Amino acid sequence: MQIWTDYVDELKKQTLYRQTVSYQVIDATHVQHAGKKYLLLASNDYLNLSQHPKVKKAAIEAITLYGTGAGGARLTTGTHPLFSLLEEKLAQFKGEQAALVFNTGYMANVGVISALAGANDVIFSDELNHASIIDGCRLAKVRVEVYHHADMNHLSMLLKNTPCQGKRIVVTDGVFSMDGDIAPLTSIVEMAEEYRAIVIVDDAHATGVIGPGGKGTAAYFGLQDKVQVQIGTLSKALGAEGGFVAGSQELIDYIRNRARSFIFSTALAPATIAAALAALEEVENCPWLVDKLGENAKYVRENLKCAGVPVLDGITPIIPIMAGRAAEAVQLACELDEAGILATAIRPPTVPKGTSRLRLAVSAGHEQAELKNVVEKIVKALKRLGIKRR
Ligand SMILES: *Cc1c(COP(=O)(O)O)cnc(C)c1O
Repeated sequence: MQIWTDYVDELKKQTLYRQTVSYQVIDATHVQHAGKKYLLLASNDYLNLSQHPKVKKAAIEAITLYGTGAGGARLTTGTHPLFSLLEEKLAQFKGEQAALVFNTGYMANVGVISALAGANDVIFSDELNHASIIDGCRLAKVRVEVYHHADMNHLSMLLKNTPCQGKRIVVTDGVFSMDGDIAPLTSIVEMAEEYRAIVIVDDAHATGVIGPGGKGTAAYFGLQDKVQVQIGTLSKALGAEGGFVAGSQELIDYIRNRARSFIFSTALAPATIAAALAALEEVENCPWLVDKLGENAKYVRENLKCAGVPVLDGITPIIPIMAGRAAEAVQLACELDEAGILATAIRPPTVPKGTSRLRLAVSAGHEQAELKNVVEKIVKALKRLGIKRR
């Protein structure tokens, strides 16, 4: 159809066209494409657990024991024995009474938010929240007030000035996926208490990444008992697939009976759950893995700063190099590609217009010498492209 090709042509004109590219895994931090080897700086597999021998072995054993597919939804026949093990462990890890596994983090957000927000409720949402939170808010069909990113004055004003006959819900990413900053959770929780609002934190990029032992954002701030709803994913630092929500037993009982993305989809395969379980055990048994991730992130941030590249202060492994226009972000990614480094150019609609960037994702398995080289190549590329160092 003409409108489809017009749409695609327009994207191409604006350097916003996207394609899937397949990469062959070499090891946890290297991939191959078109005969060329790359250092991988674009993966959310922060602890490299998707390639861990114990995690792989657990998945293989689960296939042998249980087969490849779940064969049914969670509420019919899909709940194989590994689920309760994983859900118990997740609840414990997050310091909550109970947890429920969804098929993806996306489905957890969409299902939980639309289940919790009813008529007369108002959701207060950070403007940089993940698309799955935005879609959850849309599905909830309630009033949504979007506050400026991490702007507590704005949130306070909206809480004060928005009439609400039902519940107030504040929802935020724990670690913001494209900026790598951490939500100001202490202030959010304080305000939520004042307005008796429920707080939902999406820890997709925080689980296994920040807080003591990688327990996430609430644990990082010591607020595990003040955040009612902790969402997370099994597909990033845990190297598997799936999402989850953790909270009180009554919350989980409610969500299990209400969240449509939980109810109406076939359960995850046994291998996936076994992998997540083994990965979680690895995180708990090897806290130094999380520390190493933090050290690597710190190393890259500090060295970029030393070289005059402005990066936001922070501790997370997500480090954006701001480029501005989409074309510049793509050029930057191409320059690194030339140098055998794979980092993704992030463009609208993933980030707001004018904030296109190269998004570095550091992992625990990167060698310091490799990271040093990455910094050098970035500095060189920025210079060559004449991208202003702001
Ligand atoms: C990746 C991500 C999700 C979605 O998780 P998946 O398991 O990949 O579906 C949700 N929220 C945030 C903040 C994310 O970055």
